[in-house]
Amino acid sequence: RVNLEGSSSIVTGGASGIGEAAARQLAAAGSKVVIADLNEEKGAKVAAEIGGVFVKCDVTKTEDADAAVEAAVAMGPLRACVNSAGLGAPGRTIDRDNNPHDLGRFAFVINVNLIGTFNVLSRAAAAMAKQEPMDADGSRGAIVNLASCAAFDGQIGQAAYSASKGGVVGMTLPIARDLSAVGIRVNTVAPGLIDTPIYGEGEHAEQFKAHLGQSVLFPKRLGQGEELAFAIMDCITNPYMNAEVIRLDGGIRMP
Ligand code: NAD
Repeated sequence: RVNLEGSSSIVTGGASGIGEAAARQLAAAGSKVVIADLNEEKGAKVAAEIGGVFVKCDVTKTEDADAAVEAAVAMGPLRACVNSAGLGAPGRTIDRDNNPHDLGRFAFVINVNLIGTFNVLSRAAAAMAKQEPMDADGSRGAIVNLASCAAFDGQIGQAAYSASKGGVVGMTLPIARDLSAVGIRVNTVAPGLIDTPIYGEGEHAEQFKAHLGQSVLFPKRLGQGEELAFAIMDCITNPYMNAEVIRLDGGIRMP
């Protein structure tokens, strides 16, 4: 296993849900964590609880990603970058009055989930590549992205979200091949339905709960952020794990 004691790490979206759970497990493994998130209140609270630091970061901005990387490197060699910041903005291709979907809304989701992920991972990788190798095998660090089962099981109204997560899946292999040369492993975890604040309230939350019936677990239930964090930690600490897309959905299959 990769030893994270004395290292630093970045978790985008670390203020909530899956990212928060991953940040807690990274800290427990001895890494100093930068919570890089837009949510200042929740992010600062989590960072204080785990002995890390909060950096207000919009993943779509290069200067914010640089600030997160800088804060991490100041605490120790950067060994892990978890890209959990993400969101959805559901909407049908044409609405009830047959008007087309707003292009700005579509672009917003792609910008945060796909381009934001590439922005942070490329800047984290640049810092990792400049560091001394950590293990006898010459590895320098690990990157873990969050995709979604929506990359494979598209639901009505989720075109932008599915496209963004399909993009994250699609870029995993080329980036892993690219960064292998400098000892950085890249993996993606694709969650099913996880009990986090991402679904908010209202119509979207109702849609989410309706899918619970597809659970094949007994008793039927949603996944927990902590259970996703186990897989994220495996991607980081298992030196043979590379270029994987791990679907972690409790066996759920949406119709
Ligand atoms: P969450 O809403 O609990 O947390 C997401 C965090 O990302 C929030 O703290 C939010 O402030 C932050 N964020 C949003 N936009 C940002 C931006 N531009 N810059 C920085 N931070 C930003 O969500 P979650 O359920 O923990 O989801 C984590 C990841 O897993 C997301 O990428 C999501 O798409 C993916 N995912 C979640 C589920 C699920 O069922 N919860 C399923 C599949 C995939």
